Amino acid sequence: MSGVTRRSILTASAAATLAARAGLAAAETPAANTPAPGIYRYKIGSYELTALYDGIWYRPIADKFIRNASFADVEHALDEAFMPHDKLATPFTTLIVNTGKKLVLIDTGTGGQIASSAGVLRDNLTAAGIDPKAVDQIVISHFHPDHINGIKDKDNNLIFANAEIMVPAAEWAFWMDDANMNAAPADMKETFLNQRRIFSDLANNVTHYAPGQEVAPGIETLPAPGHTPGHTVFAIHSGDQSLLVLSDTAQHPAVFARHPDWQAAFDVDGAAAVATRKRLFDRAAADRMLVTGYHFPFPACGHLIKTASGYEHVPIEWQTTL
Ligand SMILES: [Zn+2]
Repeated sequence: MSGVTRRSILTASAAATLAARAGLAAAETPAANTPAPGIYRYKIGSYELTALYDGIWYRPIADKFIRNASFADVEHALDEAFMPHDKLATPFTTLIVNTGKKLVLIDTGTGGQIASSAGVLRDNLTAAGIDPKAVDQIVISHFHPDHINGIKDKDNNLIFANAEIMVPAAEWAFWMDDANMNAAPADMKETFLNQRRIFSDLANNVTHYAPGQEVAPGIETLPAPGHTPGHTVFAIHSGDQSLLVLSDTAQHPAVFARHPDWQAAFDVDGAAAVATRKRLFDRAAADRMLVTGYHFPFPACGHLIKTASGYEHVPIEWQTTL
């Protein structure tokens, strides 16, 4: 190292670092200050699926949130899931299935009518290059507002103007029954009224499906009662691949897959919801099925494994090829 001392090398490198910093400062990039699109595309056989994020709601919860567990246990589970004690992280992911012949949307998001931190489905449709008018069918899993409100905007205009709307017959029978509405407690009455806002002027154009029926080629409907009476999940089959669309069989898996026995206050029939959850999760785990859950963290897709005390959700790896 003829004549070059260690000290002189360090000095030169320090000077270069300073010069680089100065250069960086000169080319400083303004912050984007806007979230990135929430779109994830994958394939089941020849069907192309697009998961579209609608945002997240931090649902306020209190000590009666789980009917059959102490709030201390719930707080512990929320800690383990890195969640605050007074709010349940509730993300929303809708799914577009392109069968090659039809564009089918499964559940419609919040329509921006539930939380200011949700309602970006339309932006993500645009980012995904999907025109809402091109959607042929909307298939609804159940009638809670976070699944049906995106049928219409705040001014009651249809967002997917050309889509046939398909709903579970048992959901319609339960929620559109005025006797059930009149007998319901006050907070549940709001849910009934919201369903009338969405569906009353569409009644003649809504198709009712029974579980077991295919709503489109390769999209099978399966009964999953408990969360609501007509709550439905879907199995999508194409070629030799399948996806189980779990709808609201479980809310956030970091809480409800780990504690499959828990009955949430918003489940219409808590015991039935637990039985449905275990039946479907057992099947998904045993068959190593790819699953997606409406309230799973985006892109809401992965696998379930059985653990000593419940289940664990293992997210898929983000693919850059289809
Ligand atoms: Zn939901």
